[in-house]
Amino acid sequence: MLTTIIYRSHFCDDVPVKALESMVAAASIKNRDADVTGILLFNGTHFFQLLEGPEEKVKAIYQTICEDRRHYNVVELLCDYAPSRRFGKVGMELFDLREHDRDEVLQTILDKGTSKYQLTFNDRALQFFRTFVEATEKENYFEIPVDNGWAFIPQGNARRVDPQAAMQLAECGFAFQPIIDPLSQEIVSLEALLRTASGDSPKAFFAALSGDAVYEADLRSKHAAFALASALDLHEQTISVNLLPMTLVKIPNAVPTLLQAIELNGLVPEQIIVEFTESEVISQFDAFTQAVRSLKAAGISVAIDHFGAGFAGLLLLAQFQPDRIKISRDLIRDVHKSGPRQAIVQAIIKCCASLEIAVSAVGVEKAEEWMWLESAGIFQFQGHLFAEPCFCGIPPVAWPEKKSLL
Ligand code: C2E
Ligand code: MN
Repeated sequence: MLTTIIYRSHFCDDVPVKALESMVAAASIKNRDADVTGILLFNGTHFFQLLEGPEEKVKAIYQTICEDRRHYNVVELLCDYAPSRRFGKVGMELFDLREHDRDEVLQTILDKGTSKYQLTFNDRALQFFRTFVEATEKENYFEIPVDNGWAFIPQGNARRVDPQAAMQLAECGFAFQPIIDPLSQEIVSLEALLRTASGDSPKAFFAALSGDAVYEADLRSKHAAFALASALDLHEQTISVNLLPMTLVKIPNAVPTLLQAIELNGLVPEQIIVEFTESEVISQFDAFTQAVRSLKAAGISVAIDHFGAGFAGLLLLAQFQPDRIKISRDLIRDVHKSGPRQAIVQAIIKCCASLEIAVSAVGVEKAEEWMWLESAGIFQFQGHLFAEPCFCGIPPVAWPEKKSLL
């Protein structure tokens, strides 16, 4: 199938602009051989390229382009399918925007087109060209430095307690993972992640249960989470726990039970955040919002977890506004390379800013993901890059440090 990829990248300052012509000539031959055609725009700082051809070939060439050291911040803006080529004449043609009059530049590019219809009708690819040429999107180019100037070195050791002693032979265990503000070196909250008694995943824990027993165990397990937090001496720390929304609906007196567990372990409701992991549709929405009101009235904060994945969508946000939103790992993965992910994350940030909802990003594994998110305006993070969950303990945090200062 005829595939189109459009990307934008940043030209490396240390590559002479003169080298561009020979680079383009070589690439043009290579592309032609692979039946890939397209056009490359350059504005002195950024490249903008459209590649068209058979899917496998376009993807293979794009992969090589991503690995090219002469540019960085390569962001895929569009990947789509088309009936015919828009720029089918040459393997790769360079078009230097600086050499053309601003008013005519878009038309001059379009004159190079080979497709009868796509260049005249409302075509997404064409709209991307317009935006790049008119440079109207610049404030949304969050760019990260060419070299990753940060080191992530865990500070100290994990602090653990004996699970048996702490939880009095509970049916489950918990692992803690910090949510941090890396630049102010602050632990925003510690999330208690459910484990089986032997340290296995939440999935394994719930797999052994069915029907309402799932919700009963979910609620009961929170007592163990708070007991562990207390044994770890977390009395001054914000603690996040996960609950299925239906746990609050299906279990009678769920909120008073939760409050009792908090108090029994010497904690206060104001230090607790309940994260709703919406893995199923909330069928009794009124009962759910009523329970959330009781949580809020008692001083507990509320977060929507896995935002942007599965059911935790915009309608839920329209119906009720939590104190915090945690953006799903599925949206965070390789955000620095993907135009669609960047657009969605930026929209979430903007929406949450209007609603005064705190935003955090979950599952950050790469320095580049963190740097992009930080420059886009997210300041709270959770992920293996900083700390992995620690069974019955608090893991050390790898705060980012500037390499030049080490
Ligand atoms: P979650 O609340 O989004 O928790 C974060 C999950 O992502 C954890 O998986 C954690 O280990 C994992 N994670 C953290 N950083 C990274 C990273 O950088 N990369 C990757 N690949 N993963 C990372 P875990 O502990 O297996 O928990 C999975 C889910 O189970 C949780 O997702 C939460 O939705 C649910 N869960 C955890 N505890 C409870 C609980 O007490 N009750 C209920 N109902 N659900 C729970
Ligand atoms: Mn969570």
